[in-house]
Amino acid sequence: MKKYDLIVVGGGVLGTFHAYHAARKGKKVLILEKDNRPVGSTVQNFGQVVPSGLAGKWFDLGLKTLEIYKEIQQKTDVSITQQGSVYIASDEAEWQVAQEMSKIHQDLGYENQLLDANEVTGKFRHIKSSYARGGIFYPGDMSVEPHLLIYKLLEFVQAEYGVELQTSRAVVACEDTPAGAELTLAGNEKLLADKVVICSGYVFNLLFPDIYRSSGLIVSKLQMLKTHPMPEVKLGSNILTGLTIRRYESFEQCPSFSRLETPEHLRELKQWGIHILFKQGADGSIIVGDSHEYAGVGEVENLGLGSKEFIDELMLKEAARIVDFNVQNIAQNWAGLYAQHPNEIFEHDISSNIHIRTGIGGKGMSSGAGYAGEVIAGLF
Ligand SMILES: Cc1cc2nc3c(=O)[nH]c(=O)nc-3n(C[C@H](O)[C@H](O)[C@H](O)COP(=O)(O)OP(=O)(O)OC[C@H]3O[C@@H](n4cnc5c(N)ncnc54)[C@H](O)[C@@H]3O)c2cc1C
Repeated sequence: MKKYDLIVVGGGVLGTFHAYHAARKGKKVLILEKDNRPVGSTVQNFGQVVPSGLAGKWFDLGLKTLEIYKEIQQKTDVSITQQGSVYIASDEAEWQVAQEMSKIHQDLGYENQLLDANEVTGKFRHIKSSYARGGIFYPGDMSVEPHLLIYKLLEFVQAEYGVELQTSRAVVACEDTPAGAELTLAGNEKLLADKVVICSGYVFNLLFPDIYRSSGLIVSKLQMLKTHPMPEVKLGSNILTGLTIRRYESFEQCPSFSRLETPEHLRELKQWGIHILFKQGADGSIIVGDSHEYAGVGEVENLGLGSKEFIDELMLKEAARIVDFNVQNIAQNWAGLYAQHPNEIFEHDISSNIHIRTGIGGKGMSSGAGYAGEVIAGLF
């Protein structure tokens, strides 16, 4: 039986970057993906690569991720662009937090510019002056095209580093044997590897269901909207807003964060975990999101797989308060899912050769590449 140095279960961004790092060390690597192409969180998302929103270890991994993306994009076009991000504060309290954030990031060496209200609307012409109190612009943040990135990345790791990819291959069992870690595929075929890393996203019922049930993992459902292409609108950067300042973990480090009070007009939005983000794709379309609802392992179906109309309406109403283009020009809506864990990621070792690494939450595009490098450095 052919034996690999590493088999990665799951061809999303996390699995693919584990394969990338191991293959760069000269390891013989196979990715097994259950679907005929990955369609999990990695293709359902915004594609904002925003270390600016991360804190502590994850901020550092975000910076590493930027370097990795830059290096890959220099070799081949995988849809990565560096157009930066701007966080727009909408009131005095958010503006105070934003100013503190700017200083913290400057001290950490992450370049950013504070913009007063006039500078925000001068630089980002589609932001309404009635909304903007000020902003922080991060020129280093990046963007990817979620409907393209993973497919281009998988092509790249195969062509450049000899990674093998097998799709429509669901792994249904994995155990240590004297010959190595043995994986069983649906259909009962067996494969062997020295090491296995399982990056199975929010799929909990194929492998180790009992472990996932007691893991503390939960699934977050996010509603997303996408406009028709609007080439006449030039956003110029990822746009994140006041509710994001109230939500992203980086801002929690700011002394004034704990003093933020929720104004009446934001209460219902916060109840549904809504914060408004805009991201323009290469075709001119704009993704607008998002909301958050949660379910435990085994209960995800109870959230319903479609979008709730009233949540879309709440998001679009708030979006219209922020920007001057027609946010009702919607071409598509969908609900995306990701797995998250109270420890920021679920790390569980079945044995010294079989490792589960999943539940990276809402930061996988921003920090997954750096995180996978850290895991692989610990394994080989
Ligand atoms: C709506 C939305 C917006 C987001 N926006 C952003 C953003 O702007 N920036 C950011 O940084 N992050 C964002 N995220 C988070 C990011 O998308 C995720 O953190 C990341 O994609 C997780 O990658 P993953 O590889 O762990 O999971 P996935 O992409 O779900 O991949 C897991 C893969 O494993 C496969 N698999 C599972 N079980 C098996 C098995 N037994 N055998 C074989 N294959 C298996 C699945 O088919 C799947 O392809 C967003 C997520 C969502 C849903």
